[in-house]
Order: sequence, then structure tokens, then C-alpha cells
Amino acid sequence: MKISCPRCSSRDIWKLGFYKHKDKKYQRYRCKKCFYVFSEKGMDEFARIRYDKEIVMLCLWLYSRFVVSTYDVEKIMEKFKGIRVPARTVLNWIHKFGKDKKFLKELKAKNKEFEKIAEVWHLDEMYVKAKGRMNYLYVCCDERSRIMAMHVSDRRESKEVVRLLRKAIENAGYKPEIIVTDGWYGYDSKTLRKGLRIRKIKRVIAHFEKKIVFHKGMIYFLSNNRAEGLISWLRNRYRKFRGFKNMKKFSSFLNLWEINWMME
Ligand SMILES: [Zn+2]
Repeated sequence: MKISCPRCSSRDIWKLGFYKHKDKKYQRYRCKKCFYVFSEKGMDEFARIRYDKEIVMLCLWLYSRFVVSTYDVEKIMEKFKGIRVPARTVLNWIHKFGKDKKFLKELKAKNKEFEKIAEVWHLDEMYVKAKGRMNYLYVCCDERSRIMAMHVSDRRESKEVVRLLRKAIENAGYKPEIIVTDGWYGYDSKTLRKGLRIRKIKRVIAHFEKKIVFHKGMIYFLSNNRAEGLISWLRNRYRKFRGFKNMKKFSSFLNLWEINWMME
């Protein structure tokens, strides 16, 4: 990794001794162009946080995996870990790390090691109201409710489904063999073929009922309850917090939610 100046993004830098903090040594630099002094500490996301990295990760996981509020997280940490983490601090971390692209990318790469190939993908969508505006949330998951991808848009169109599928392929690194959907026209086979960039795809429409499908000598019992269950989890959360007030802050929660549900 090449280090550049955070102020003028120049690559011309001098080394300028070390900076010590929490028994850790950080290299210090000075920019040749604008003479700005900075250190590695500024680039480390966890350097300015009083708590250990494990505690932060545990709080983020608790908040995005279960339907709990930040006050619940505070109580859980106090009871089981013996550490007092204020609720407001947990919320700050969610807003900070939820939009940190570098942090999310690293977390995603780590989760890829746990992932296994799933032949069946489920698609579904729901509407989310934030600050009086309608937004549609598209979700793609596999048989074990692991999220493949998630996409938020203010439109309900087949174009958005194509975007969702492209994201899912990028995250998973492979293409599915069967796709389960409800009867909405946005999930027609033309859209699916376009999104997956393949000629033929087996599409199953299963809404509230189980369907038996034979595919390559295997029997599948398929229903769209997988994706709907996942979405109803979010709906529960939506109900508990009485709607979301701010779409930007909501999206940082969604980013963490997506990644944490990938790990399962
Ligand atoms: Zn500079």
C-alpha cells in the first residue's frame, strides 16, 4: 500500500520518526508539497477508540444481527462482559463503520472464506419509508438465509433487479442454477437472464406454497418463505423503532446488516 498525504493526496512524503500510543508504534510522515504532518495512527480506524477492537465488533454484530436497541446492547455488554459501553457510543460506531467503505470491504473479504456454494437463490423486495419518502429494498438470499446482496432504490422496476443480481454475483463469485421468486413481473426470465448474464435459468414461482422441483437428479422443496422471513425480520425491527428517521443513517445500518447476515 502506498501512503499519500491526506490533505493534498501527494505521494511525495518524508518519514518523520515514530509516534507512540497504547504500546503501539506508529510511523510519522511529512508531506513534501504542503508540509502537512500526519501518522499511521490517523489511518487506523480503531486507534481513536477507547475500547478494544473485539468489543467494537461484538457490539456492531449484536446490533445488526438481533432486534435489539443500543440500550439493550449496553445492558448485554454490562451483564456478560462486565464492560460499560454507553448506548450513544454504540450508535456512533454504527454510523461511523456503517459508511466506512474500507472497513466494510475488509469485513466482506473475511466473510467470503465462510461462504459455500448455494444452487438456489431467493429474491424479494419490500418498501421502506424513511423521512416520509418511499424506498424499495431488494434482497437476494440463499436457502440458509445468508444474504447474497441487497439494493436500495426509490423505484420498483426490473432494472433494479438486474442491479441486485449483478451485485450478488460480485459478492458470491458464482452464478445460481435455480431462482425462486414471487409472481411479480419484475422477476421475469428475461430480466433474470440479463442480470445473471446466462442464456438459460430455471425460474420457480412459489408464493406461500411449497413447490417440488426436479433439477439435475435432485429433488428440491422450494418456497419463497426464505426471503420473506428475512424481510419480516427487518419489518420487526422497523416496527420496534417506529420507522427510520434518516435514510443516510438507515443505510449505514443496512450495510452492517447485509454483511453480518452473510456470515451465517
Ligand atoms: Zn500534502
